[in-house]
Amino acid sequence: MNAFEIAQAQFDDIAAKIHLDPAVASVLRWPVREFRFQIPVRMDDGSIRVFFGYRVQHNDARGPNKGGIRFHPSETLDTIRALAMWMTWKCAVADIPLGGGKGGVAVDPATLSTGEKERLCRGWIDQIWKNIGPRLDVPAPDVGTTPQMMGWMMDEYTKMTGAYNPGVITGKPVGAGGSLGRTEATGFGVIYTLREAMKHLGIDPTKTTASVQGFGNVAQYACIGYSKFLGGTVVAVSSWDRLDNTSYTFYKKSGIDAVFLQSITDIYGSIDKEKAKSAGYSVEPGEAWLAKEVDVLIPSAIEAQITAESVGSISTKVKIVAEGANGPTTPDADKVFKERNVFVIPDFLCNSGGVTVSYFEGVQNDMNFYWSRDEVLSRLDDKITEAFKAVLDVAEGQKVYMRDAAYIVAIDRVVRAMQFRGWL
Ligand code: NAD
Repeated sequence: MNAFEIAQAQFDDIAAKIHLDPAVASVLRWPVREFRFQIPVRMDDGSIRVFFGYRVQHNDARGPNKGGIRFHPSETLDTIRALAMWMTWKCAVADIPLGGGKGGVAVDPATLSTGEKERLCRGWIDQIWKNIGPRLDVPAPDVGTTPQMMGWMMDEYTKMTGAYNPGVITGKPVGAGGSLGRTEATGFGVIYTLREAMKHLGIDPTKTTASVQGFGNVAQYACIGYSKFLGGTVVAVSSWDRLDNTSYTFYKKSGIDAVFLQSITDIYGSIDKEKAKSAGYSVEPGEAWLAKEVDVLIPSAIEAQITAESVGSISTKVKIVAEGANGPTTPDADKVFKERNVFVIPDFLCNSGGVTVSYFEGVQNDMNFYWSRDEVLSRLDDKITEAFKAVLDVAEGQKVYMRDAAYIVAIDRVVRAMQFRGWL
């Protein structure tokens, strides 16, 4: 099954459970619009190389499409379609007035010079600028793209339209239309949902321990937030080592120091293992993070990391899984969580802090007035707490699993918007 087939299967499953009108389901299981285009780029050696770019707009009933642009060698129309559909559910569950979209280019950005990357970013906009915009579709960074690239893209769009239009894209650098608090938003959002889950389960967060997969943007701020906001202890993080081409787990029984580990981590999220060892961390195999005897697991690296094969190694002590990453749990492993009564905070609720602050960035761009970091984070906390409560109410009221409850809330909001607009 490819990613889009998985996204459709998840949707079909929940649509059947909630007896969604088949005509409505047939609209929602496909994107509304898709674009595939050629981007010829002048390379540094004078040759022309043709790249293929994509933009998929899954559903815009609730507002302009929203979603990142991936630069990744294995990007296909189907991966982008899946991610666009998941964005529709994420924006709806977060209750922000945006739809779902995603874009990409099949390329490994590490093989391009800075100039080539800039020309590719500008070329992507040149091909699609008529079909995106602050009121149409608002891209953002994702895997392989950076705030600098968003700056080039915003500049190119501004040139094409002849007016300063920072709201066309989010995730821009602060000082060029970006929002304070965006860097921390996803990781801190994960922690706000965990705080609410612990309240609901009657768990004292200060007595809890956690193990985290990944040590990139999401994981770093989830680790910092775990001690800062919950007073709990993260004992292990894992990360991918680019030199050894494998992953390692960094463990310290008394608790990791996330700020120290950040200082010895490169921009791709690889931790320097020699420096970690000198600071008293034990360096263990990559999968060790999953088997730690902890109360909370926070998978925050990549998709499909907790599988039918690996789920058995999880300690019976684990009470909560907070999915910082997109799609970290395969459907087979998810069944085991259900049976074991593990409280799962599903990905598109748990990691919705990033898109929520992206939405705040667009709001600030519209006003041309910028909030303080504290204001951004306090609005994020309010929004994500409300989203968590809406999902929990459905889970409790209808006695369903949290992931199913999140789908029910999201699909219901999108369908109602489609009805209000007379699409159905
Ligand atoms: P990132 O590239 O900054 O970090 C990824 C981390 O995962 C790195 O530390 C890397 O070493 C590690 N990693 C990769 N493969 C691994 C493996 N097999 N074992 C252990 N560690 C591994 O990415 P990020 O922005 O932190 O995103 C992480 C996940 O969260 C992705 O699924 C992403 O789609 C999702 N997400 C991110 C945001 C955001 O705002 N950054 C928002 C929503 C969802």
